[in-house]
Amino acid sequence: MLSALDSLERLREGNRRFVSGVRSLDAFMSQARRNDFVDGQAPFAVILGCSDSRVPVESVFDQGLGDLFVIRVAGNIVASSQIGSVEFAAERFGTRLVVVLGHTRCGAIQATLEELQRPTTRQSRNLRSIVNRIRPSVEGLLATELRHDRESLMRQAVRANVRVSASALRNGSEVLEQLTQNEGLRVVAAEYSLETGVVDFFEGAASGDELGEASR
Ligand SMILES: [Zn+2]
Repeated sequence: MLSALDSLERLREGNRRFVSGVRSLDAFMSQARRNDFVDGQAPFAVILGCSDSRVPVESVFDQGLGDLFVIRVAGNIVASSQIGSVEFAAERFGTRLVVVLGHTRCGAIQATLEELQRPTTRQSRNLRSIVNRIRPSVEGLLATELRHDRESLMRQAVRANVRVSASALRNGSEVLEQLTQNEGLRVVAAEYSLETGVVDFFEGAASGDELGEASR
């Protein structure tokens, strides 16, 4: 099994290929090797991403069948089922890298900011449960001067929400805490740019950055 940092390098390389419009033969050919994966899998990274149609995880990292264990939910929020999914992959497959992948112009973040600025009663209870998960990570920003600058507010809100999700995975599970302390598990915060196609691993990705808390 790859170490967290080696896995991270593999994602970086894949994203560089995606940005330059090149596709790896391995990822492409993995479709023809579908039968190889019937009996098992060994994904090298777990990715918690947003459901947004413009951020298909396997594509932006140029990976194929069996490479990534992907959890997608609007706003890349963390609830019990997301934590359970990460625990499952980390324990069952020995995957050592977990990436929370937010993205610029995220509709779920936008909806949360709008709801905080102009509350409505129209949202369904289910949609509200997503907004309520995002709310604590962006609420504080609205108390600052950022509220006058839509673009900056959105940019910072997206990253704040990714940081909170990463922190919820690091601190919300005994299993993941143990694996982090003893087995080199690493939770990294990242943002995909719709504008450039580049993924910026902005927290927890440096080799000396054990839990990524230093850069907060
Ligand atoms: Zn989104």
